[in-house]
Amino acid sequence: MAYHGRTTRKVTIKEIAIYIMAPYGFDAFGPDVRYLGHFNKKHFALVTDGEWVNVPVYAGADAHAKNALMRPVAIPHYTAWRQKHNKGGDMLLFSERLPSYPDLEMVVKLRNTVTPQVAGQEVIRALQHSQYADDYKGQYQFVLQDFGEYATAGTSVLDRVDGTIRLNSNLFFDVSAENISMFAAAVAHETLHQNQNPLFHYRDTLPLVGHNPWHEKLDDKALTDSASVLDEIKNALGF
Ligand SMILES: [Zn+2]
Repeated sequence: MAYHGRTTRKVTIKEIAIYIMAPYGFDAFGPDVRYLGHFNKKHFALVTDGEWVNVPVYAGADAHAKNALMRPVAIPHYTAWRQKHNKGGDMLLFSERLPSYPDLEMVVKLRNTVTPQVAGQEVIRALQHSQYADDYKGQYQFVLQDFGEYATAGTSVLDRVDGTIRLNSNLFFDVSAENISMFAAAVAHETLHQNQNPLFHYRDTLPLVGHNPWHEKLDDKALTDSASVLDEIKNALGF
């Protein structure tokens, strides 16, 4: 991969190998078929003349060469061997590789991403310069955290003591045009919590069976406010 432009790289593919892979599945034979093939440690062959299916054969010009002798294997024998030794799977057959193609060049565009720390500060800055500035005061730092069993449910958690916003690392490991609106809403959400008085915070975060109407109102505001500055944020981050 070679440098091509600030956000692009040139990729050269030197070889594309094409081959055919076919499973030789022993279980696929019908009940009447007994003959599996002739085998030795190195080779595998199928005889087409029925006379030969029960006798050893020699492959190659020299019958005394190493690995020239091949012995017939019948399916019941192989099945019994598999059961006894608890090993022996199906066989995979590969064709020769087909000729490769000349160098293939292409220009690829890099996906523009920023760290959650950079994106988070930009979201805060935009909110603090919006008409809702009073609801988003304070300084914040961002920490990625694996939410474990809540990996797909939770987006973020606020530590009110020092304004640390813990972000779900599965969702926000890096921030791009694809997840910036969810990210901005999550940051706005936690920032709103930080600006609540403790009583309201307690009311809004108290787990309630079903739904918590106060918390839903806060969530709606976070979404609306962050959406109103989203273009500004995207612009600043180069998305
Ligand atoms: Zn909340």
